Amino acid sequence: TITQPKATIQILMSDTGGGHRASANALRDAWNTLYPNQIDCEIVDIYTEYGPVWPYNDYVRMYKLMAQYPWTWDLFFRFGSTPFGLWLNAILLETICFQSFVTCLQQPDFTTTKHRADMVVSVHPLCQDIALKILAYLDRNGATRDPHYRTTPFCTVVTDLGGAHPTWFHPQVDYCFVPSDALRQLALKRNLQPSQIVQHGLPIRQGFWNNAPSSSTSKAPQRTALGLHPDLPTVLLVGGGDGMGGLVEMAVALQQELADAQLVVICGNNRAAQATLQQHSNNNMVVQGFVSNMDEYMRAADVLVTKAGPGTIAEACICGLPCLLFAYLPGQEEGNIPFVEQGGFGAYCSDPKEIATTVRSWIADPQQLAVMQENAFKAARPQATLDIARDLAEIVFRHNEKKVDGGIGKGESRGVVESS
Ligand code: UDP
Repeated sequence: TITQPKATIQILMSDTGGGHRASANALRDAWNTLYPNQIDCEIVDIYTEYGPVWPYNDYVRMYKLMAQYPWTWDLFFRFGSTPFGLWLNAILLETICFQSFVTCLQQPDFTTTKHRADMVVSVHPLCQDIALKILAYLDRNGATRDPHYRTTPFCTVVTDLGGAHPTWFHPQVDYCFVPSDALRQLALKRNLQPSQIVQHGLPIRQGFWNNAPSSSTSKAPQRTALGLHPDLPTVLLVGGGDGMGGLVEMAVALQQELADAQLVVICGNNRAAQATLQQHSNNNMVVQGFVSNMDEYMRAADVLVTKAGPGTIAEACICGLPCLLFAYLPGQEEGNIPFVEQGGFGAYCSDPKEIATTVRSWIADPQQLAVMQENAFKAARPQATLDIARDLAEIVFRHNEKKVDGGIGKGESRGVVESS
């Protein structure tokens, strides 16, 4: 017999950077693991698939472009954070995208049903206000004028770490899942009630959920499995999902400084950097493009040199990996630097030569390295994905029970999760 899923969840996101889809996939995988065949989940890039006109349907390309010229992103982020910027964004979105986004929420692409989702979850900063307005419109169905009337549960799962844009935080959500103290404070500042905020950590890929190594785990078998030298100190250089400018310079500086170590460079989707670096590769430098087994590389390494991406940092913590951050996107990634520095498991520096000497000094001091590894483990939240998935599932299951029992009104979906 085929078991029909008992609940449908629509995850709203956009592929601006790799993190939103990675988190959405992680939640879907967690539901499949925890509740096989009980949750049917659709993940939709609402802007790319339903944005009616430019610039809404072109966000992904524009984000990539702005990430290459960070000052443009800085401007966009800062303007969008001002009261006028927030108001303008909300009003334009509602005027231009409302109808086509209604279609997105009204006709989801579930495998088991064509009905609207039992619950909607956002993992993107630009999917709160407009989605809540649409849910209110669809749920009240002409029955009331209350603009905040809503019966469909709506939750936000923030996929940034040490900093976040104000649009992430909307006081009308049922719950907002934040990964850190810094973001809890931002949520409170944006008028969310403490009872709406749940703090577990960042949702990340299945490879990082369990079997977290401790500081006593030997890295040699993992290195051998990856074709690396089992006993050499290992430095991992990662430029984020799309790769990032400066990777080649950084790799060359590290290669020159780390004569007694091995360097693994993961270029992500940065094909140009990969091609250039492959010409420099030798016994002590391994160059990879986009890898799907980042957890294995992180478990093999002693130090991570990376741009300040939230996913990469959270993953590094789980592997007890000290981090040297060499770049960040202004705005949401700036706060990831204090997250690492105050957590005592890394530092920020933008000069390749200085980075190379710092990494060498870390490797030369096993005691200091061990302290940083322990601090990274302390900041790790390997259970976060499963915890968030469990809470969300409980909300949608309870909601559906109430629907069967008869009628659920505004706000009734609250009170399922105990805020930590
Ligand atoms: N990543 C990967 N393979 C690669 C390069 C990166 O799986 O070759 C993953 C990395 O493990 C992380 C994500 O891509 O989960 C990057 O997310 P992050 O939040 O660090 O930065 P973003 O790319 O979203 O700016």
